[in-house]
Amino acid sequence: MKTRDTIVAIATPPGAGGLGIVRISGTEARTVAGAILRFRHDHEWKPWRLAHAHLVDEDGSVVDEVLVAFFAAPRSYTAEDVVEISCHGSPVVLRHCVARALRAGARAAEPGEFTLRAFLNGRIDLPQAEAVRDLIHSTTLYQARVAAQQLEGSVSRAVRPVKDRLVGLITLLEAGIDFADDDVPVAPAEEIDARLADILAGLDRLLASYGWGRFVHDGLTLAIVGRPNVGKSSLFNALLGADRAIVTDIPGTTRDTVSESFSLEGVPVRLVDTAGIRESDDLVERLGIERTERAMADADLTLVVLDAAEPFTDADREILDRTSRQGWRAVVANKCDLPRRLEPGIEEIAVSARTGAGIEELKRLLIRRIAPDGIAAPQSGLITSARHEALLREAREAAEKARAANAAGLPHELLLLDCYAALQPLDALTGATTADDILNRIFSTFCIGK
Ligand code: GDP
Repeated sequence: MKTRDTIVAIATPPGAGGLGIVRISGTEARTVAGAILRFRHDHEWKPWRLAHAHLVDEDGSVVDEVLVAFFAAPRSYTAEDVVEISCHGSPVVLRHCVARALRAGARAAEPGEFTLRAFLNGRIDLPQAEAVRDLIHSTTLYQARVAAQQLEGSVSRAVRPVKDRLVGLITLLEAGIDFADDDVPVAPAEEIDARLADILAGLDRLLASYGWGRFVHDGLTLAIVGRPNVGKSSLFNALLGADRAIVTDIPGTTRDTVSESFSLEGVPVRLVDTAGIRESDDLVERLGIERTERAMADADLTLVVLDAAEPFTDADREILDRTSRQGWRAVVANKCDLPRRLEPGIEEIAVSARTGAGIEELKRLLIRRIAPDGIAAPQSGLITSARHEALLREAREAAEKARAANAAGLPHELLLLDCYAALQPLDALTGATTADDILNRIFSTFCIGK
């Protein structure tokens, strides 16, 4: 990873807009900008001030009128000298501006390279860098709030007490070994056990927050199953209502894959795609079960829909049986606005996609299914990343091993190995120790210019 050269990229999304920003970072940022811009004759580079300038061609002809912001190292996004040129938002002008910067000695930035530099220069830790990406890709305000808290360092703050306790234990064990000949008392097994239990409890709390946190990050997929014509699509539309979330699934691409989803307390909910099968009812009946199974396999939560205006059928029974094995299931009777012919006591709640009756209650039911302990406040330092969860799990396993080693009365040298094995993933989580390939994997999911 080369970090000494000066990099350039368009920081705003593709397409025409009111403004478009070209960002330059590195020791030569001012030199590069100076080569492509014409300032007033008395211009000086003053940090954190806007300057007026013209973007000019090699022959001096004006291409755009721009505003230029200079952020002096280390108080900038990357902790290096940064120049941001606000052009008018024409893709042609922006590309031309970048091309000119390249000719003036800058290099095109890789995806996420500005944020990578902020990390490598020690301005932010790894969870904060990841939060930048999550904030940009948030599709609900709740997701944005959680990411903003993580940008402020909430993840590392939540992990730190556990890490401190682990380091404390390591120090204690090391001292016992180092000074064994000097009659320094070795820590008693009970104390070590209590300390490890405390560490494990801390790790468990963090891991438990991922139960809700993973939905906050990844969103939730909902399978709506039921016989044809019970009102599955109508129900989805009723849930969509006003709480439509804007979803662009793939980082780095904007507007490519926009799917409809609604926000359940800030968690974007996508419908598992079971569309496209609209053959005759006969065939649908036959395909119904197979389709239900397929949809359920891809879903976090299954909503079984019955028709309140019709008696219970064998097909309903079959679908209920198949879905009963799935933990996260909710059963509703739709069309409660019509005279009831469904036998009582089968559904959890009755709703009407047509009148909207029961829809809010249905949402509360869905939330209870996925978050039995309630919804975490954005500032509670919850774990939302699969990478963080995997590392916490690794730390937990090692701490568990250390506890067993202690119980078995093994020498403290061996116990220490397990403690260090528990510390290592916590360091990797915050980025205190991280291999280049991991960094590449994380930052390649960013968009260019960030
Ligand atoms: P799907 O095949 O399960 O997706 O069912 P649809 O959503 O296409 O609905 C089937 C029919 O039932 C349509 O004619 C809807 O207008 C009607 N429908 C859906 N929900 C309700 C409801 O709550 N009340 C009434 N009266 N009709 C409904």
